Amino acid sequence: MSNSTTPNTTRVAIVTGAARGIGAALARRMAQDGFAVAAVDLKAEACADVVEAITSAGGTARAFAADVSQEDSVTALVDSVATEMGPPTVLINNAGVLRDNLLFKMTADDWDIVMNVHLRGHFLMSRAVQKHMTEQGWGRIVNISSTSALGNRGQANYAAAKAGIQGFTKTLAIELGKFGVTVNAIAPGLIETDMTRATAERMGVPYENFVEKAAAQIPVARTGTPEDIASTASFFVREEASFVSGQVIYVAGGPKA
Ligand code: NAP
Repeated sequence: MSNSTTPNTTRVAIVTGAARGIGAALARRMAQDGFAVAAVDLKAEACADVVEAITSAGGTARAFAADVSQEDSVTALVDSVATEMGPPTVLINNAGVLRDNLLFKMTADDWDIVMNVHLRGHFLMSRAVQKHMTEQGWGRIVNISSTSALGNRGQANYAAAKAGIQGFTKTLAIELGKFGVTVNAIAPGLIETDMTRATAERMGVPYENFVEKAAAQIPVARTGTPEDIASTASFFVREEASFVSGQVIYVAGGPKA
């Protein structure tokens, strides 16, 4: 494994929500690209499989526990990563939850949990790592938004958070650019993970029918895979992408989903 962007030292990449789904693919891809990976999830044990997959392929990874919505937890996490692995100069804010409901049935807790994990989580993690990035004069932040930012029935909380992440991304790009730090967002369409299975279940639709119906609406005629998102992130974090910042790329098999 080599990282052509880092000929002399191994850079450290934090991936949140790395235990499964898109986060696990992001962690594997960062390792494949030559980064040492801090795989973060609510429980460190949940990242055992992804860490094993990376290390058995010759890469470097460690599992860490943190709740991205909690300030103390985030501070402790970023300190531990810096001490045990080196300064984190790549951050992929991927951890996420759903609490879908139509507006009239959505509780304040449904709203707060989604805002806290997505929006506050992106804020707390980015604020904690920017110190290391600005000190190193190099950094890459990749935020995970969603096509739901454009509006999606039953997801007022999630759509608002994912749209907020886009404004957050553009603002950080403006603030951090002069320190060699780029900040971009990926807005995935339908990617097959446990989260999508949960959505199908909530809608009372058998998963296979849900996927088939979705694929029929997507111009490339298929649903997405976690690797589709990982390969896009791989572009954003590379050296050659240093002039690309504040962008939101929709990875949805077409212009909208
Ligand atoms: P997933 O399979 O549900 O995985 C999400 C991961 O985040 C889980 O391992 C979860 O841990 C972890 N997590 C949740 N809350 C956390 C917290 N407070 N702190 C740390 N980790 C936490 O979801 P996914 O489908 O891979 O989605 C990943 C990201 O892509 C999310 O931001 C999601 O909104 C976004 N996205 C997904 C799709 C899609 O179609 N799948 C589309 C657009 C955007 P637990 O298992 O312990 O809860």
